[in-house]
Amino acid sequence: MADFLSDNEKKRYLRQIMIASWDESVQMKLKKAHVFVAGAGGLGSPSIYYLAAAGIGRITICDNDRVDLSNLNRQILHRTGGIGILKVESAGDAVMALNDTISVNLVPQSIETTGIKKIIESADIILDCLDSFMARSVLNRMCIETKKPLVHAGITEMHGQATFIHAPETPCLNCFLPDTDGKEQAPVLGATAGILGSIQAMEAVKYITGFGDTLKNRLLFFDGKSMSFSTVKLSRNPHCTACSAVQ
Ligand SMILES: [Zn+2]
Repeated sequence: MADFLSDNEKKRYLRQIMIASWDESVQMKLKKAHVFVAGAGGLGSPSIYYLAAAGIGRITICDNDRVDLSNLNRQILHRTGGIGILKVESAGDAVMALNDTISVNLVPQSIETTGIKKIIESADIILDCLDSFMARSVLNRMCIETKKPLVHAGITEMHGQATFIHAPETPCLNCFLPDTDGKEQAPVLGATAGILGSIQAMEAVKYITGFGDTLKNRLLFFDGKSMSFSTVKLSRNPHCTACSAVQ
């Protein structure tokens, strides 16, 4: 990978390079970054798309599922013509059509698969775009063990939540998320996934570039019915089975 921005890249990212204090060296931080996205569904779709658009140099997409007709109300990376194919392939095609100057690693496996931890170790930041507590719990533990930051989001109907996790500096997912969200088919309005997934992409970009303050130690709630955001402070659970031994 070239250690500079080509003329094409300078034009592609012009409107964000114009952001105050965001010069070409900041854009290079994105180009050199590797983001691991767990899940290419409702949250993964906007996250991956905006990360690719922003110029993240390497995106790893991990999902073992295939595109289904019932995904398409919210999983905007996928197309009607892609029903039946692996979500990572569908997502990879969409990303390349948007920005072929970045690289995408496709991992058509579940997060529990042996070898995933090694890939996570090579990433700068991880996005939790999963939809089951079991998978989230595994990802959370891997991020604690590898000391990697994890941007969590969850959605149901017209509301959602997000936070930035980097244990032991912050609580881990297990500190505050009760293991009861096992619903396999949660009702979701697609735009809810769009909002929370976009927040995840923004948190990753902020962490990589050092711009602004992340959602560290804060849980953000979004309520689409009242169209309001609120945050609550998070604290570590000293009895947490996942992170209490980590100092
Ligand atoms: Zn914990």
